[in-house]
Amino acid sequence: MITRFAPSPTGPLHLGHAFSALTGQARAQAAGGSFLLRIEDLDRARSRPEWEAQIFDDLHWLGCRWPTPVRRQSDHLADYEAALERLAARGLLYPCSCTRGDIRAALSAPQEGVPVGPDGIVYPGTCRGRPMTSRRPGDALRLDMARAAELVARLAFTETGPGHAGRHEVRTAELVESAGDIVLGRRDTGSVAYHLAVVHDDALQGVSEVVRGADLFEATPLQVLLQALLGLPTPTYHHHDLIRDAQGRRLAKRDDARAIATYRAEGMSPAEVRRMFGFD
Ligand code: GLU
Repeated sequence: MITRFAPSPTGPLHLGHAFSALTGQARAQAAGGSFLLRIEDLDRARSRPEWEAQIFDDLHWLGCRWPTPVRRQSDHLADYEAALERLAARGLLYPCSCTRGDIRAALSAPQEGVPVGPDGIVYPGTCRGRPMTSRRPGDALRLDMARAAELVARLAFTETGPGHAGRHEVRTAELVESAGDIVLGRRDTGSVAYHLAVVHDDALQGVSEVVRGADLFEATPLQVLLQALLGLPTPTYHHHDLIRDAQGRRLAKRDDARAIATYRAEGMSPAEVRRMFGFD
């Protein structure tokens, strides 16, 4: 069993992250396996070395231990580019120059609301069919979901988390409507999208159970599809409940009040934080 905690260093580690990391570590330990830490810093505009340093420090304080060196995604951009090229070689990608404004304008009936899938607004397909040779600097790369559905008809994964435990089967054709042609190469940074980097790294690092918040459950079929298209194994998934504040709202990165650093500054002990979640 190999689990991992894969934070993005774009803000302070808060209670929700602590719960995720402790759950990942506990599940690995219970199975005699190992727990990894990975830094997902592909969003260069929002990632900061200070946040990364704080993540290491807070996790250590909480009692998490992990093997070093820690994989930091921004050090491995060539790996992700190679994965994109493999998808492009199978005719699965096309360049897209649409801005958010273009996409909203192309979605004809705004009174019916914009269709939103697990990866955001469902793309109306304006650039679909453009050859890769027409890619210009600043173009995004999108996955041609209908073509993906031709290559991979069915997806399956096993969930061990509390909300959706069991075997899940999805027909890829359903994703054509529900998710559409998701972005895999990003126009703003020239880098790859999170879904691609995450499946690449989980496979490379031998992660056998992905432990993360329930907010990513809906995106899991997209990631399982990318595994199938890239010939990568599908791990088991464990989506844990989200930690909420007293008003029942999800914690966000900007909720500094819930930052582990705040609890530390107020004199709370790591054992007390762990006990809050029922660990120890
Ligand atoms: N890096 C992602 C985040 O901070 C989590 C990715 C994952 O656990 O699959 O939200």
